[in-house]
Amino acid sequence: MTLKHDNQAAFTLSHPNSPDVTYTDVRFEICQPGYVDWQAIAGNSWTARIAGTFLVRAFATADGQSFVVGPVTVWVQFPSEEEMMVDPVIQAHATNLWAQTLALCTPTNRHELGCWILLNTATDTYSFTATTNGPPAPNNQDSYIYLGAPPGDVPHSPTLQHESAVYAVSAFHTHTPTTFRTDGSRIVGASPGDKTASLNLRIPSLVYDYVETPDGSGVIPIAHPMTSNAKMYETESCPRRPSQ
Ligand SMILES: [Zn+2]
Repeated sequence: MTLKHDNQAAFTLSHPNSPDVTYTDVRFEICQPGYVDWQAIAGNSWTARIAGTFLVRAFATADGQSFVVGPVTVWVQFPSEEEMMVDPVIQAHATNLWAQTLALCTPTNRHELGCWILLNTATDTYSFTATTNGPPAPNNQDSYIYLGAPPGDVPHSPTLQHESAVYAVSAFHTHTPTTFRTDGSRIVGASPGDKTASLNLRIPSLVYDYVETPDGSGVIPIAHPMTSNAKMYETESCPRRPSQ
């Protein structure tokens, strides 16, 4: 299971060797390893709002006998870069910051813009921290941005006892135009530094940048027109935040 994108489970009980067995009085419970309390699941449907590994067990009656079945492990993961990069709310914020990045580009300075992407599992909505402006980069130097450490989870160390949480699930930043640059082509998409930062922080990183020109080159030239096509890139160093 994955928070927001695949967070609905419907548990069913069947006998591995006797599919005709009819169970009655079926009820399911869930717990988090390390925590003693089992929680009843209403009916058989469950919505994942906390990341981690959980155990699910069932109580049932068949042929007049009572059974405890399980437990089985349920793994709830954080969203992946691939899921987030096509999410319409994230796309809209990314294109907004891209437009601001283009507006801030002058013949003498460029700024990368960035933020953290947050997921509130109470509402299954993405939101964003305030925009960070990278330092001004003169046109004979590469631009960069430093977002620091991701915001902590709210509540701190969410468990199944909490109904939901707000998690930082990815970094995001823009790269900058070469329209006024004088020092050669540059690679597009996640840079080696972006990949290292994502790996070290153990959190995904999405990047908005121009589409390579020409096709297959992996670069854009100097003096690339500012309004050229751009898109979201994944970094692929940490495809999703680890949940265990
Ligand atoms: Zn970058």
